[in-house]
Amino acid sequence: MKVKVISVLEDNYMYLVIEESTREAVAVDAAVPRRLLEIIRREEAVLRAVLTTHHHWDHARGNEELARLCPGLRVYGADQRIGGLTHRVTHGEELTFGAIRVRCLFTPGHTSGHVCYFMWEDESPDAPALFSGDTLFVGGCGRLCEGTAEQMYANLTGVLSALPKETKVFCGHEYTVRNLKFALKVEPENEVVKKKLAWAKRRDDEDLPTVPSTLQEEFLYNPFLRVTEEPLQKFTGKTDPVEVLRTLRTEKDNFKKPKERPNPQAMLALEWGLFSPFLEKK
Ligand SMILES: [Zn+2]
Repeated sequence: MKVKVISVLEDNYMYLVIEESTREAVAVDAAVPRRLLEIIRREEAVLRAVLTTHHHWDHARGNEELARLCPGLRVYGADQRIGGLTHRVTHGEELTFGAIRVRCLFTPGHTSGHVCYFMWEDESPDAPALFSGDTLFVGGCGRLCEGTAEQMYANLTGVLSALPKETKVFCGHEYTVRNLKFALKVEPENEVVKKKLAWAKRRDDEDLPTVPSTLQEEFLYNPFLRVTEEPLQKFTGKTDPVEVLRTLRTEKDNFKKPKERPNPQAMLALEWGLFSPFLEKK
């Protein structure tokens, strides 16, 4: 099973998983359809299905166009708001695409209908893969847009932690450097955080992705998976793991973002916004 990491939009990842013997393929969060189809052609693969982690625009925006370009395409997800949805999945449901096996893991919190996809190939030496969308990031977790700290805690320590430790983590965004800067603020003494951050910065400089990581690694530096550790309790001033997570999430929401570079298009939009009332009056 080959996983192609395709970086799209500002900092999103779209993935293409190809079964190497039959060239059957499954896409995850196919946000930029034409780019995806170009890669599929080059790989001489056949797209069987799209798996969507959640309904947000930057993950699901390509589904309808893709379905139009590939008639009969199956689009999976757990949220009715996902564009082009043809198959609504439930927690624990298993899907098969040739030798590729998928287990759907319902992980509400970032959105109320978020799903992670755990993927493996029977009788393959390759490690399994987790497509974690905006639930688990390298070094972080998703914002609680439509859910609670209790739900995120259950996702991270119940559902995802039960997967094999060698599972590769392919997440929805390249947020690694920012996440690890926060992790370092939380645990300034954690050598694994320091090392991973230095590595992630080098990858960033070379414009290379920091995915995949492994679950095993995440337990060593991701603060949201370390809520029972002493330094995390100290940082948050809480002992109950759910409260530690809740406090961490709030702190992360307020953690300063890198300074925005001026965006000429946004500036133009702003100018138009300012100008339009005058134009309308004429
Ligand atoms: Zn999202």
